[in-house]
Amino acid sequence: MARHAVSRRNFMGGMAAAVGYLSTRPGAELWAQGGPAAVAAQRARGPMTPEQYDRMAKISSNENNWGPPESVMKAMNNAWKYVGRYGYPDGNIVQRIAEHHGVKAENILLGAGSGEILDVVGTTFLLGGKKVVGADPSYGSVYQHATAIKAEAIKVPLLADFQQNTSAMIEAANKHAAEVGFYYLCNPNNPTGIVVPKQEVKQIIDNLPKDMPILIDEAYHHFVNTPNYETAIPYVLEGRPVIVARTFSKIAGLAAMRLGYAVAPAPIIQKMRPFAMNSINVLVKHGGAASLLDTAAQAEVKSKVIALRTKTSDDLKAYGYDVIPSETNFFMVHLGRQVQPVIEEFRQKEVLVGRPFPPMLEHLRVSIGTAEEMDRFMVAFKQIFPAKTRQTNVAQG
Ligand code: PLP
Repeated sequence: MARHAVSRRNFMGGMAAAVGYLSTRPGAELWAQGGPAAVAAQRARGPMTPEQYDRMAKISSNENNWGPPESVMKAMNNAWKYVGRYGYPDGNIVQRIAEHHGVKAENILLGAGSGEILDVVGTTFLLGGKKVVGADPSYGSVYQHATAIKAEAIKVPLLADFQQNTSAMIEAANKHAAEVGFYYLCNPNNPTGIVVPKQEVKQIIDNLPKDMPILIDEAYHHFVNTPNYETAIPYVLEGRPVIVARTFSKIAGLAAMRLGYAVAPAPIIQKMRPFAMNSINVLVKHGGAASLLDTAAQAEVKSKVIALRTKTSDDLKAYGYDVIPSETNFFMVHLGRQVQPVIEEFRQKEVLVGRPFPPMLEHLRVSIGTAEEMDRFMVAFKQIFPAKTRQTNVAQG
């Protein structure tokens, strides 16, 4: 235990030294640059000093609030000696990822977070005014990037039970095939936490035009428990035009270190590669490689997340509020009123909760934090919302 504390302190010490001004300007509003998720999180939390940030319960951005395990901290600490280099031993991160999935190095493209991968897919397949087909709401950065490069999105609303409308999405992709650059499937979906069952994923892959790229965003893969779900990586091995995006920001607890990757057939990776920044830092290459090996640490995070998600959802239901059943490290609760002012009320109570996800404007997205953070969330929730008695249907006759 003591060793863990020491190595973490050493690591942070090194980090502070590297960015110097952090320690010399206490109280300044200094925020790290990250991918689209970081930008959205920053906007949602607004201006804040580092001291204010530290006091907050941070359940807004689907992070891993326990941080990386000892094995990963150690690997990153050992890599500090390379930070002055361009060429250096990189922990064989590409090879490690390829072996982890049973694919070849030519099937892997690294990104500074999977957010970069999503952008690279957008740039590769949408330039020239193509369209992306996807669900609404889903992880919005794909659509925002499309807008930024003057492409468009065909967004298909979720069904009433918040499932993706797979048949309507397939139909839209086929109907507009000539204009569609790729199909986006976020599985499990953010913000709902709901999976698209494996049979439906097959249905999508079998029923889209033969060469239409399908981007399957599996950022929350590691939290899923239902046997209804499967990763789409086997389709890559079959040579289907499937691009799976994965991240070290969630289960691995490395969001600020920025590492994600794509798994796809080699010809697709070759098309994407020129658009990638190749800006992954040496520390996270070593940390990522160590993380893949520490399956026990990942299993522990998963079980803590599921236990706390179940407890918080049960508490909210007992208090009279509906929760969408989730397979991820976040869930949505139905508030019965507009979410925007509620986000601010939580913030006043030093609890950062998820941003609005139109058109689900009466739902609040809550990430799973530590037990202490979830307790603070429930206390704040009960201060903001009254208990509701549920309508019980008494059987007639
Ligand atoms: N995809 C989904 C569904 C996400 O929710 C996020 C972040 O919240 C990302 C991708 C991007 O994460 P990162 O760039 O940190 O890998």
